[in-house]
Amino acid sequence: MRTPIQERREIFVRGIVQGVGFRPFVYALAQRHRLTGLVRNDAEGVHIEVEGPAEDLELFLQNIEEKPPPLAVVEAVSWRPLAVARERDFRIEESREGVRRRALVSPDVATCEECLDELFDPADRRYRYPFTNCTNCGPRFTITRSVPYDRAMTTMAHFEMCPECLNEYDDPSDRRFHAQPNACPVCGPRVRLRDRFGRELHGKPEDPILHTARMLRGRAVVAIKGLGGYHLACDPFDSKAVRTLRARKVRQDKPFALMARELEQVRELCRVGPKEEALLTSPARPIVLLERRESCEVAEEVAPRQNTLGVMLAYTPLHHLLLYDAGVPLVMTSGNNSDEPIAYRDEESFEQLGEIADYFLIHDRPIHMRCDDSVARIVDRETYQLRRSRGYAPAPLRVVERFDRHTLACGGELKNTFCVAKERHVFLSHHIGDLENYETLRSFREGVEHYCRLFDVQPELVAYDLHPEYLSTKFARELEEAGLRAVGVQHHHAHVASCLADNERPSEERVIGVALDGTGYGTDGAIWGGEFLEGSIREGFARRAHLEYVPMPGGTAAIREPWRMALAHLITLYGEEEALKLPLAVVRRAGERNVRLTARLVEHNVNTPPTSSAGRLFDAVAALVGVPGSRRITYEGQAAVELELAASGPASLGYPFWLQQNDEGWVVETRGIVAGVVEDLLAGREVAEISAMFHRAMAEVVAAGCNEIRGAGGASAVALSGGTFQNVLLLRQVSELLEECGFAVYRHRRVPANDGGLALGQAVLVNDLLRVMG
Ligand SMILES: [Zn+2]
Ligand SMILES: [Zn+2]
Repeated sequence: MRTPIQERREIFVRGIVQGVGFRPFVYALAQRHRLTGLVRNDAEGVHIEVEGPAEDLELFLQNIEEKPPPLAVVEAVSWRPLAVARERDFRIEESREGVRRRALVSPDVATCEECLDELFDPADRRYRYPFTNCTNCGPRFTITRSVPYDRAMTTMAHFEMCPECLNEYDDPSDRRFHAQPNACPVCGPRVRLRDRFGRELHGKPEDPILHTARMLRGRAVVAIKGLGGYHLACDPFDSKAVRTLRARKVRQDKPFALMARELEQVRELCRVGPKEEALLTSPARPIVLLERRESCEVAEEVAPRQNTLGVMLAYTPLHHLLLYDAGVPLVMTSGNNSDEPIAYRDEESFEQLGEIADYFLIHDRPIHMRCDDSVARIVDRETYQLRRSRGYAPAPLRVVERFDRHTLACGGELKNTFCVAKERHVFLSHHIGDLENYETLRSFREGVEHYCRLFDVQPELVAYDLHPEYLSTKFARELEEAGLRAVGVQHHHAHVASCLADNERPSEERVIGVALDGTGYGTDGAIWGGEFLEGSIREGFARRAHLEYVPMPGGTAAIREPWRMALAHLITLYGEEEALKLPLAVVRRAGERNVRLTARLVEHNVNTPPTSSAGRLFDAVAALVGVPGSRRITYEGQAAVELELAASGPASLGYPFWLQQNDEGWVVETRGIVAGVVEDLLAGREVAEISAMFHRAMAEVVAAGCNEIRGAGGASAVALSGGTFQNVLLLRQVSELLEECGFAVYRHRRVPANDGGLALGQAVLVNDLLRVMG
């Protein structure tokens, strides 16, 4: 028998291919095809040399491209011929020291089925071991201090593997081959139960997890150290327990998330379609917003007045054990005081959460990077991100245009994320939070440094929001003073660019960008937020239309107390004296004094900036119809959220509005809408109907604006962005109307429409701008 002609090839694989079981996969593949050679991690990914008959090499390559391990993201495979070496076997080689800086760090991954089976198998040596993991699952990003991704660079460094673990770690045929966080009850991290002062409990419980589960069923609030930080847990079926948690956390209305052990439990609470199921069980395990069943017995206090519940499935072995022992789903909300970032350092957690939690279930594997749970929902069978964080970050987002320079984009103020970018990758950070206090700012700074180190980025270019008071802007200015080139980007331009980059649209594509949100600093000093832009990433955007300016009495006070916006509208529409006479609840509650005070602010223009914000218009209408949150909001966007909830569903008729043309474009006069709402209220129409008609009117505003712009020679594709588009009732109607008018519609997919996606838009805009300007 003649041996076929042998060839040798050198293959390079790029993408997320380290720490995801890629080398054992290549090893097994080579064995199967009886090929010889070697595989090792290199600076940018995986390097393979492989030798055998040409046909087999082709199959080998095809398998790598088409059937990589589940967690791998293969971005490019290239090869070149080498001289035949005639080896006897295929081997896995150690990485070469100090060269692996550019490989990508994987996000954290939910516990896999095989690890779960072992976890609940009394015969297994990892039976009920809360830190079991393998190459297919476990912590990654949150434990990584630096690159290369090796145990020594993770927070597992101080745990020395026992001989059995070491055997698994060294065996290419084992599921734990080079699983960096590999551990077992003999050698790995341990859980401990503490009281709220950090002291051990009397009579030291045998099994801290079982004990915790029992206390949770007995109305306790327990702080639980998880993957990216602490959660606060309690029994969601016990109103008293939930009320206690709300009172101690000083969190009045914002919904709490639940964690369930398995899908069946979720189905009992909520409706779960196939797309929701796929999202719930995906390795990222986000919190998924689901429609609550009428029969659901979860206490009303978990998500007051909401028709949805945010539910996630257990994603660490510790969660699986706890939920198994508890027997019911649990409230699992971020372990923080209202405005602070989530607690993640043990020393600080007792101080931060000691007033909230009765007990602490802690462990000795440090969390290096704080990372909140992600939040998403399904809209029209597509994933719609609301908070992109754990499980997604720091996976790169591919973009169409190459970055000429290493770039840092600082994002906005609320729901901040930043990003670093190079080549065709944007690394959008995990959720940092509202940059309003020292703690969050510190975590922003540390985050930026960490991402630069992990992804080997040395920023030359810095993008920031034009708002001079944003802490992220001030941070960018500091870098500018240190010699970097910094470019300010208008808030809504960044939103529209983010939506385009999210959809991987080419830079030169012209679109109409509709950016609706609460607050963005406008180039005329006004507060924008109801913007119709036109242009492309390449040429930049021009403002073609906007909602009419309305006074925002008291500035940020009007954001906190939406009734102030309602009064501003009424005074503008009817005049002070007439407004006072209106038999409306919002006027009565505000009282004559507040109406007159508001009128003075508007009249003398004192701390009353003009705003075109769609968010504030939603607030005004929410206050007119009197949703509970319109007195004083307890979380961002609350009044608008409640207005959406109040709607009876999509309406076919809206309120009247006009488009007024001027030299610069169009102004949408929204006073007809507000007047219509007032008339209907006075006529005793149901709030549910009024809200539905208002949503319809806003959808018609968007369609009308886009039609005018297209009619004047504008583009025929529309990008929808901004926090207001988290309103699904609005989003759906806008999309429908635009599609009926023949527009192509781009909505967000990979990053949130809110400010959590802003940095992506900033980055792609400055990249193109500098390309033009040089
Ligand atoms: Zn596993
Ligand atoms: Zn061990």
